[in-house]
Amino acid sequence: MNQPLHTGRLALTPQDPYYLPADLAPIIEKLSDIEFIHPEISDDNTTGYRLGDRFLQLVTFMGCSPAIQFEPDEAGNPYCHMTVAGPYESPRLLYGRNTTPPRCASCRKRIENWRTFIGHSGNSAPDGLTACPNCGHRQNPTSYNWRQSAGSGRLFLFIENIFPQEAIPATELLTQLSQVSENKPWHYFYLQEESPAKSGIDSAAIKRYKVGG
Ligand SMILES: [Zn+2]
Repeated sequence: MNQPLHTGRLALTPQDPYYLPADLAPIIEKLSDIEFIHPEISDDNTTGYRLGDRFLQLVTFMGCSPAIQFEPDEAGNPYCHMTVAGPYESPRLLYGRNTTPPRCASCRKRIENWRTFIGHSGNSAPDGLTACPNCGHRQNPTSYNWRQSAGSGRLFLFIENIFPQEAIPATELLTQLSQVSENKPWHYFYLQEESPAKSGIDSAAIKRYKVGG
């Protein structure tokens, strides 16, 4: 396993983590109408959707003009495209190696050991309350302000191969998504997948291995 680290993805999801749009089809149709994606040349569910001609108007890239690859190449290099994750029965909290510690809503202290409780409650525990190690305030992890470094929801659109903060969705894109989901506001965050050695799950497994062996 000598894979390079995951560059990152831009994730779009309704702001309310419990809200699930009734149907994905109108969302895809809208994204196609505004030329954010090219559904007619989507490959399959695993490769997702190619980006459309107005992608660069609907997502603003920061800094100098980036060399964006929009098509797969023969070498299998990562490229910019859209995938869909979900729908999920309950909110999933998605986080990665870019995720920064959230602040407790009560005492405002940073919860540095957030990975420990996420590991225990699991990514899909919607009502698993976690206690602040400083003040004991119990809070659902989906309600933390992760400052765009993690996020919760039941349906996600991922734009693959985007570094955190590299590209920001234009207001038009968020507005159009809201219009096809009962005017519920959408927001965005960034994810860089964790290398296996650093994920909470694996370190727990390593601990068990040491204890047992
Ligand atoms: Zn606290």
